Amino acid sequence: SHLINQIAAGEVVERPASVVKELLENALDAGSTRIEIDIEQGGSKRIRIRDNGSGIPCEELALALSRHATSKIASLDDLEQVRSLGFRGEALPSIASVSRLVLSSRHQTAENGWSLFGDGQDAFGSPEPSAHAIGTSVDVADLFFNTPARRKFLKTEKTEFGHIEDTVRRIALSRFDVSFELNHNQKNTLRLRAADDRSGAERRIAEICGSAFVEQSLYLDYEAAGLRLWGWVGLPTFSRSQADLQYFYVNSRHVRDRLISHAVKQAYQDVMYHGRHPAFVLFLELNPQLVDANAHPTKQEVRFREGRLVHDFLFRTLHQALADIRP
Ligand code: ADP
Ligand code: MG
Repeated sequence: SHLINQIAAGEVVERPASVVKELLENALDAGSTRIEIDIEQGGSKRIRIRDNGSGIPCEELALALSRHATSKIASLDDLEQVRSLGFRGEALPSIASVSRLVLSSRHQTAENGWSLFGDGQDAFGSPEPSAHAIGTSVDVADLFFNTPARRKFLKTEKTEFGHIEDTVRRIALSRFDVSFELNHNQKNTLRLRAADDRSGAERRIAEICGSAFVEQSLYLDYEAAGLRLWGWVGLPTFSRSQADLQYFYVNSRHVRDRLISHAVKQAYQDVMYHGRHPAFVLFLELNPQLVDANAHPTKQEVRFREGRLVHDFLFRTLHQALADIRP
């Protein structure tokens, strides 16, 4: 099963940024409101994520590192309506199989914390008491140390950290109510305070996307037939030559999806300058039963049960919003 975990790691853990993504998703699923990320040497030396979420009971630490042990769904019915970011139960075991991992946690009902030490093998020993506030820390050292072929594929420290920053920004945009801190080689590179209103959210967006985007965008919030679309769309004057400011979230999960891109592009068609790309930070909320997030191990692709309906809703809502501001 160590081999199976390593094979799964090939799908889930492509590079340090994928570890960061999975650990951040777990921290959010645990209800954290504060998340700290410490990176050393682009993540190849160390990735440590500390949260103040619900924590893991001592007796479940080993389970969290074993394959397909998810605490998030109990039945196929649950899978039909996943609300959590995780549900496959393979991230932690995959990461543990290709690194030296320490999982430390104090459950909200526990008197003290516990740590479990992994060495890239299957056996984890038994948990040892450790000083830990309520919440969880995952410390991932020496990523791919036991899979030299994969380690060789890592790019420079700067490139890998760039991917990590992208990942943190993308996830930070999905949850304005959570604070994030990112440090690289002991130096702070990002500090985002939790926000509970629109201006707080816009402060964060300005920090991540630049203030020009916030100034030259339109805020919308529209709901119909159980679908809600809200967020910021760049005015045509802010369209870009690169498609690098396009953030789309479905029920708080960042996704890249052809159907969504198509609908957005169509809506912008009349107002878009030739060869330029729309910029947006948009959130679609709908009944989880209408979305299948289990289309791919990285969960970045989704399938909509009512694709046509979603496409038309996006197109019409955006087109209307843009038509209103068309000169
Ligand atoms: P999944 O997220 O798909 O359930 P993971 O392998 O990512 O699978 O995590 C396994 C389990 O470990 C989770 O279901 C959860 O119970 C627990 N867990 C992982 N990270 C955290 C965390 N930061 N806080 C609380 N529990 C966690
Ligand atoms: Mg997970």
